[in-house]
Amino acid sequence: MIRIVSREILAATAAEEWKRIHIDGGIERGGVDVNDVHRRLVALGKNPHPKEVEDVIGARDFTTLGSCMHCDRRRKRLVEIEFGVGAMCEQVRLCEACLDEAKSLFTQSQLQP
Ligand SMILES: [Zn+2]
Repeated sequence: MIRIVSREILAATAAEEWKRIHIDGGIERGGVDVNDVHRRLVALGKNPHPKEVEDVIGARDFTTLGSCMHCDRRRKRLVEIEFGVGAMCEQVRLCEACLDEAKSLFTQSQLQP
């Protein structure tokens, strides 16, 4: 999947991400009742504030956007490119400037024989 992510979008998808990793994926989380946390995340509604999600989970890992993984700049939105499947899938998050630079390589390469 390729999608745009922001703190707000991460908060809005935290319940399904939690389910994918900790329920469907079976990855435990230090003595936490993963089903109870999932129920509480769903109960926050479709667009919870990131802080609400952090309070339920007790950590910020589901709402932290981080910086572009190429240039390390912080942005309000990044494109997330996912690879792999299930609980073990990984993502790379890139800013618009780095994606523009990457896209330009296709354009440049078309000019060459
Ligand atoms: Zn970047």
